[in-house]
Amino acid sequence: MPRLIPTSHADLMPSRDLLPMLERKSRSDRAETTAAAHGVATDPAFGSVVPPLYLSSTYEFAGFDTPRAYDYGRSGNPTRDLLAQALAKLEGGADAVVTPSGMAALDLLLGRLRRNHLVLAPHDCYGGTLRLLKARADLGHLTFRLTDQRDFGGFEAALSDAPALVLIESPSNPLMRVTDIARLSTLAKAAGSAVAVDNTFLSPALQQPLSLGADYAIHSATKFLNGHSDVIAGAVIAAEPQEAHDLKRWANVTGAVAAPFDAWLTLRGLRTLFARMSSQERSAMTIAEYLDAHPAVRHVHYAGLPDHADHEVARRQQRGFGAMMSFELEGGVPAVRRFLAHIRCFTLAESLGGVESLVAHPATMTHLDMGPEARERAGIRDELLRLSIGLEHIDDLMEGLELGLGAC
Ligand SMILES: *Cc1c(COP(=O)(O)O)cnc(C)c1O
Repeated sequence: MPRLIPTSHADLMPSRDLLPMLERKSRSDRAETTAAAHGVATDPAFGSVVPPLYLSSTYEFAGFDTPRAYDYGRSGNPTRDLLAQALAKLEGGADAVVTPSGMAALDLLLGRLRRNHLVLAPHDCYGGTLRLLKARADLGHLTFRLTDQRDFGGFEAALSDAPALVLIESPSNPLMRVTDIARLSTLAKAAGSAVAVDNTFLSPALQQPLSLGADYAIHSATKFLNGHSDVIAGAVIAAEPQEAHDLKRWANVTGAVAAPFDAWLTLRGLRTLFARMSSQERSAMTIAEYLDAHPAVRHVHYAGLPDHADHEVARRQQRGFGAMMSFELEGGVPAVRRFLAHIRCFTLAESLGGVESLVAHPATMTHLDMGPEARERAGIRDELLRLSIGLEHIDDLMEGLELGLGAC
């Protein structure tokens, strides 16, 4: 008679005792296998192939003064921990914290800085990152400075002020500039600074910042990691076990932990990360070449194109060029209006990294808050459009673009 009902609650609880078993099961996994199958078929209660979703906010003690592996959902949750493990493996880190958003992931790091600690960030960083740095600085929690991180001289000069944290974002949004992560990490660490890389645009499938010398990889899991535009989540992956441990405790202190269902959905999305990335990237390369040759297009920003200023650095530090690009139209803002009125197959929306293709106009959408002067300085022009390439058939994507460009 098969045992259908577990005999005790303890049987139902995937405890941290399970982790050694999981570890054995997945020790030699290649990254694709980790993404597709980390935690698969490890359910001790029913042999569920898909890891179960644990929604409970609290856990029964085994007895007086005898907590089990989990006691309260803010401190730990089996579903969230499984995703954290998978992400840590993919990024080659010690462990990870899964946060309720990408901004919460960044703020997890910033929150541990002291007053007057300096953060060095790229002058063309994600708009939300800049807004958060400004808000924290206004409250006196930290100071920050923006530099052009492709200017090594300027970067080295800024390091003389001994920043506590150097923030890198590569490729950058929306201009797809690539920063030499290994070189900057070496310089920063020699100056005693910790280095965090926002790896949202490429995901660990195409870039592993920790292997290039960074201390932390951070993610908006909202984008490629989940990949289906139905979750807001983030993650910080730490290279060192002690740092990972401290960040986990800090997430428990501040409550910056993702909901179990969001973690479960993100793990489900992660299963297809490599397949999505490789397919979306293939289409992106075709589209970048097509746009590059089109008379209505002035310039394409995609590091996969051989004449992109950072093509060589990108080839060296990335395993691919990704599925994001931007381009400028010859006809200025009137052309942008006509293009967006006629384009098909791309949805006009913010965000990126999903299975559906999106088009965004940074100056009026993602980068509106920056203001015209800062946009001008960063090189974000009013005729710039950003594309996130999804999984639609390449012919449909090209036909959709052609309808837009034909109207320019
Ligand atoms: C979207 C994004 C963020 C912020 O992530 P949320 O999940 O929206 O909070 C941070 N960095 C980059 C590069 C992003 O694209």
